[in-house]
Amino acid sequence: MRIALISEHASPLAPPGTQDAGGQNTHVRELATALAATGHDVRVYTRRDAARQPSTVAMGDGVSVVHVPVGPARVLAKDALLPYMGDFGRWLGAQWDTDPWVPDVVHAHFWMSGLAALTAAGSRRIPVVQTFHALGTVKRRHQGAADTSPPQRIGFERHIGRHVDRVVAQCRDEARELTRLGVPRSRLALVPSGVDLDRFTPDGPAVTLSPAHHHIVSVGRLVERKGFAELIRALPFVPRAACHILGGPGDAEAARLRHIAEECGVADRVHLEGQVPADAMPAWYRAADVVAAVPWYEPFGLTPLEAMACGRPVVATAVGGLLDTVVDNVTGELVPARDPHALGHALRRLLDDPMRRLGYASAALDRARTRYSWQRTAAQLSALYSTVSGLALGARAEAVAG
Ligand code: UDP
Repeated sequence: MRIALISEHASPLAPPGTQDAGGQNTHVRELATALAATGHDVRVYTRRDAARQPSTVAMGDGVSVVHVPVGPARVLAKDALLPYMGDFGRWLGAQWDTDPWVPDVVHAHFWMSGLAALTAAGSRRIPVVQTFHALGTVKRRHQGAADTSPPQRIGFERHIGRHVDRVVAQCRDEARELTRLGVPRSRLALVPSGVDLDRFTPDGPAVTLSPAHHHIVSVGRLVERKGFAELIRALPFVPRAACHILGGPGDAEAARLRHIAEECGVADRVHLEGQVPADAMPAWYRAADVVAAVPWYEPFGLTPLEAMACGRPVVATAVGGLLDTVVDNVTGELVPARDPHALGHALRRLLDDPMRRLGYASAALDRARTRYSWQRTAAQLSALYSTVSGLALGARAEAVAG
């Protein structure tokens, strides 16, 4: 099949771990690669955000990345991109009217890509699949007035959910949110993300860390909702542990975290490692005695899965996708969000109990390998694309007959 992935702000070529580049970038890159490996012809459309970017980049066998020339040729916050989505959709439509490469299916990532996809594909009867990656309703609930999303976001998400051919939920919690939003159950499919099981493995080099401490590793973009502040506030309950926080960009949030660490008297045990290149990530997970993934909310959450694939126990907050990936008391432990006391207690108990850590680690590895390969995700999505393009063909035949 010819598959168009649209990811308006999250380029698969951008390094993850900064303000607006994280799991979606990784997801789109890995999905495109896994789909191409099974013989599909994949194009990823993302906004051109630098002046000298080539219009098309070959990302690997069977995958190219097309830079869509809309809006200024510089990086913009994703919350500022809505005004360009009409042009994005029209550009795609014009492209597919003139280029012999016309997709059999369009898979949009994030709500704004969904708008562009519907504009381009709707009148051309190309089926559209949508993955939201994050939902405005959930963000608003947790961030309130601090939510900088355009005010139209939730309305547009509802519109997209009701007009695309299928919506992919990445976890059970997201499926519930989507039905609450008004997405018909018949249009919902549950397909989790995968993890790169060739790169994230228990064997291989590990970062060398001081033997004087236990080491807690936590990974994510340095934004408040990732819960790093709560992790630091938990450290006084875990006296012999150091924590390493990996992620950028670093400025204001890093200063806030350093201040909290001073206040809690744990500054000497908190290490802000900054943005770490994706290639260096497995060595960091392998160095951890335990990985903490403690966001306030999380649409899916790749980092706990990466840790599990490296054979590491995970302490996670009981939210979103982490409720599916981390099995409480089997592969790790789930704690309430935004509760440093509960988090500290769980970390201390686990760090004091090497046998329990070993048991969790092997169950975590097993779970990641059996349930979360990209091959499995790509196979499930391929089947979904075939279904929706079959449906679209049926609709076209009816239109012709009619
Ligand atoms: N990541 C990275 N370098 C960093 C921080 C994060 O490569 O310094 C990667 C991490 O390994 C994971 C992704 O960024 O693949 C974060 O995805 P997740 O789903 O956990 O969070 P999101 O960024 O989507 O909120």
